[in-house]
Amino acid sequence: MNTFSIAIHGGAGTLVKGMMTPEKEKEYRLALEHALEGGYTILENGGSSIDAVEAAVKRLEDSRLFNAGKGSVFTAAETHEMDASIMDGQTLNAGAVSLISGIKNPVSLARDVMDKSEHVFMAGAGAMEFAKNNNYTLEDDSYFYDEFRHQQWIEIKDTDSFQLDHAKKKDSKFGTVGAVACDQNGNIAAATSTGGMTNKKFGRVGDSPMIGAGNYANNETCAVSCTGSGEYFIRGVVAYDVACLIEHKEMSLADAATEVISNRVLKLGGDGGLIAINAKGEIAMPFNTEGMYRASKSSNGVQKISIYK
Ligand code: ASP
Repeated sequence: MNTFSIAIHGGAGTLVKGMMTPEKEKEYRLALEHALEGGYTILENGGSSIDAVEAAVKRLEDSRLFNAGKGSVFTAAETHEMDASIMDGQTLNAGAVSLISGIKNPVSLARDVMDKSEHVFMAGAGAMEFAKNNNYTLEDDSYFYDEFRHQQWIEIKDTDSFQLDHAKKKDSKFGTVGAVACDQNGNIAAATSTGGMTNKKFGRVGDSPMIGAGNYANNETCAVSCTGSGEYFIRGVVAYDVACLIEHKEMSLADAATEVISNRVLKLGGDGGLIAINAKGEIAMPFNTEGMYRASKSSNGVQKISIYK
């Protein structure tokens, strides 16, 4: 049987260690563990990697701790616009949604675009229409309201700046979410979901729903989910770049992932990290920021839940 494994992230960014209380840290660890288990159980029972990444990301979206689904940040217009994508490394099928609101689990809508439409990427009103036609119910604004995130937005709302889901030198709440998995058949998949960046202009689309930028999966190389300053991750075509280094330069998963995050993205000026997996079940989780909420579990017995370096 193939080694099966899963890795998840809850975002990377500036994370001031002193601002994290033991209680908070425990809360994050429990939420990560809960999501990890959701995906791992599927793999353990012989399920597919695509089902595992969707299940793990749904659990992260359902937590107010992370910037996706329930915990999504505010746009400059005081609204929520969410992005998500999913990709199957066996078939190279993919689905993505952007600029959606009111949807509890954007990753499932991305999955439905992949499974039930002729398209790969649907955005805005069209994506919402697609959701309606597939019997999604909409949550009202209060479901997505979080006092802390509202405060984050108030602090920069009248400026032109937008930021990763963390305030420099303040708190540490950030967190686009993602998962990558390798199942018992050696098939890999990736999923990513986000509320984007605080105070982003309405209509702004980040890297998370862009296949190749924030999310990518191909059995021949790797599955990748990114987090960080999306504009740079788009320009660096980051997720696909990791796959390219493996394919064309024959780099190992770990070397390729580190080269992209610690060298190429940094050179562009971007900060963030990624999680990556290959068909052997190997995992890499590099980041160039102070921390990245991350966790992994493998059938070889290794389990990790970490926040800082
Ligand atoms: N990459 C996301 C975006 O730019 C933000 C994040 O990773 O937190 O939308």
